[in-house]
Amino acid sequence: MSAVFSAAQLCQQVQADMVKVDAVEKADRSPVTVADFGSQALICQAIREVFSDDIIVAEEDSQTLQENPQLMGRVTEYVNRFAVGQPSAETVCDWIDHGKGQVGERFWTLDPIDGTKGFLRGDQYAIALALIVDGEVKLGALGCPNLKWNLDDPGSQSGCLFVAERGTGTRILSLDAQFSEEVRISHTAHRFAESVESSHSDLDTHAQIAQQVDIIEPPIRMDSQVKYGVLARGEASVYIRLPNPMTPDYREYIWDHAAGLIVVEEAGGVVTDVDGRELNFSRGRRMTGNRGILATNGDLHSQVLECIRKCSQN
Ligand code: AMP
Ligand code: MG
Repeated sequence: MSAVFSAAQLCQQVQADMVKVDAVEKADRSPVTVADFGSQALICQAIREVFSDDIIVAEEDSQTLQENPQLMGRVTEYVNRFAVGQPSAETVCDWIDHGKGQVGERFWTLDPIDGTKGFLRGDQYAIALALIVDGEVKLGALGCPNLKWNLDDPGSQSGCLFVAERGTGTRILSLDAQFSEEVRISHTAHRFAESVESSHSDLDTHAQIAQQVDIIEPPIRMDSQVKYGVLARGEASVYIRLPNPMTPDYREYIWDHAAGLIVVEEAGGVVTDVDGRELNFSRGRRMTGNRGILATNGDLHSQVLECIRKCSQN
């Protein structure tokens, strides 16, 4: 877990440096690339050190980096600030490529920066790591460097890590690991959470469904898996992700949901796809047997599934 803290710090550092150069290079996507590779290098290396035989299925590989020496230099520089020893560019690529594993009986899945668009906007993003054994998520860590401790209190502290282990609950930790407490879903929350990006889901139908289940509060729109964290700690009752009608065949990536799923389940919530099916992490990098996502505090789950079923008939 300490690797996720280091990765979170690396991302925060890149984002802070990005703000300084922002006025000069508004369209520059390289900060997110640097943070993405840096985060993956640190986490893959830490897993390899402790579980040398374990497989990691991660989003990135080092190929684009190898083709761009300048970018490679920046990634190596950031990794050196947070890694033990002085890894060379070659070593950093080797760490990154440890994430090129295949889905199997036991593997880790990693999204080094989930919500790249949020990262570039200076909004929400997450570092998401999960361990899957025999198809079941056993462990999840969700670093949320920009998430407020209390969404309804803009003055509250930013940055936290959710950690969930199967059978033992979900905890929230401060990024300096000085503070930690258990989180639970809320049965009184009455709010939807959904993606900021309108192309990633079907926001119009979400709004219709919210109305049908008497939710009147405006939805919480956030990038990345921080939405699972917000649901787990009781600030929303539903996280909905209906496939966008423009991309009906889109299938979700395992690293976009494995950590979030266990964070919500261990906090007392329920996660399925929008057809009520269990998420299947065993088929490969994409969840080819599932469509969209529905995560709730449990109370509204079947009612929302019924609304989805009716909407799809129209
Ligand atoms: P979010 O911020 O919740 O929308 O999640 C970001 C994730 O959305 C990215 O990691 C992408 O893998 C994923 N994504 C990209 N395109 C789509 C799409 N058409 N439908 C659903 N998810 C998508
Ligand atoms: Mg992602």
